[in-house]
Amino acid sequence: MEAKPDSAELFERACRCMPGGVNSPVRAWSAVGGVPRIVESAAGVELCDVDGCRYLDFTASWGPLIAGHAHPRVVESVSAALEKGSSFGATTRGEIELAERLCGRFSSLEKLRLVSSGTEATMSALRLARAATGRDSVVKFAGCYHGHSDGLLVRAGSGATTLGIPDSPGVPAAVGGLTRVARYNDLESVRAACDGEVAAVIVEPVAGNMGVVPPREGFLEGLRKITESTGALLIFDEVITGLRLSPGGWQQLSGVTPDLTCLGKVIGGGLPVGAYGGRADLMDQGAPGGPVYQGGTLSGNPLAAAAGLATLDLLEEDGSYERLEELGKRLGNGLAQALAGNGCVQRVGSMLTLFFGVAGVDDYDDALSLDADAYGRFFHAMLDRGVWLPPSGYEAWFVSMAHSDEHVDRAVEAAGGAMAEIL
Ligand SMILES: *Cc1c(COP(=O)(O)O)cnc(C)c1O
Repeated sequence: MEAKPDSAELFERACRCMPGGVNSPVRAWSAVGGVPRIVESAAGVELCDVDGCRYLDFTASWGPLIAGHAHPRVVESVSAALEKGSSFGATTRGEIELAERLCGRFSSLEKLRLVSSGTEATMSALRLARAATGRDSVVKFAGCYHGHSDGLLVRAGSGATTLGIPDSPGVPAAVGGLTRVARYNDLESVRAACDGEVAAVIVEPVAGNMGVVPPREGFLEGLRKITESTGALLIFDEVITGLRLSPGGWQQLSGVTPDLTCLGKVIGGGLPVGAYGGRADLMDQGAPGGPVYQGGTLSGNPLAAAAGLATLDLLEEDGSYERLEELGKRLGNGLAQALAGNGCVQRVGSMLTLFFGVAGVDDYDDALSLDADAYGRFFHAMLDRGVWLPPSGYEAWFVSMAHSDEHVDRAVEAAGGAMAEIL
């Protein structure tokens, strides 16, 4: 029998036909070095590569898989949908149900549009905000990532940070010039950036793309006040936090209601989905009722809606968020102990980041001072111990409902060994 190609051989092939060998930059492991493992399959918390190695996963495909990999109920729901056809270019019951259920959970959502990625959601929300206000400029925060559309790829955190290209060539100066960058957790910088030309302030209400950085007390309330007084819309990019931190997003927990909300990741249960929505009077300015154009061949795709609905069902079971919080806490505390003062762990619910070499991270400048080399060594030491982490120190780790206390303890024990090896 012919030997199956291993990760190294497959990655070499990948590099010949795809730039950097990947379809999304951080997957290339540039920040941590080494040959990225090629994944064969995953189930629950376990990920298997083509070399036959098994890993305990804490990336959850960068957030979506809150129910774990290939959850039987998600698989069943998607399979049943596929039997009926994969796409019709016409409206289906599943997407209506998904939209209804999301609107029912988020107080800011009267209406929403389903799209196929978080990038599309934020891009479309900005277009709507500009149309609704008749203004062109937007304010974003250094270190917040909102997908890779031109105007938002400015000081954009994780993926871009890892590669050292916070500002990408190819973004026209005229477009980049309409994006003003403020400092996370710093309302003074927001006041300085906001004037009568600003259509919207877009923010990750809990930042996840410069590592996990919680909002300081009063920060989101301050954004709400400033945007109200300057006539800008407030956009919460809850693509990560949406269904991860509570059924109604961070807006439910913080009590701050944005004008527009962007969702993605968890709402698609591992299939490509995004959504943006808000008050009906705003959303109705979208085509076909209004003039603001946005559309998509596969928007509201029935397979993605089925995966999202099954994931929502699982999250609605009793105690799911309490369980995620407990698991997150157990992991966070264990890691902090293993780290023994050589950095810090920042956690909100089931998302956390272990920052090497810094005492705390409140904004992007703090994040940039982390010890990226130590993280790279740690990443590989953990991989050797069978734990799969994000291949960059500027990312969030995710706990899923498939994790048990035992899984978490295993990871903490591995972290202890890894620290002893690398520090
Ligand atoms: C992942 C992410 C996006 C982009 O979503 P894609 O589906 O990758 O296009 C946007 N905003 C935030 C906060 C994200 O974490």
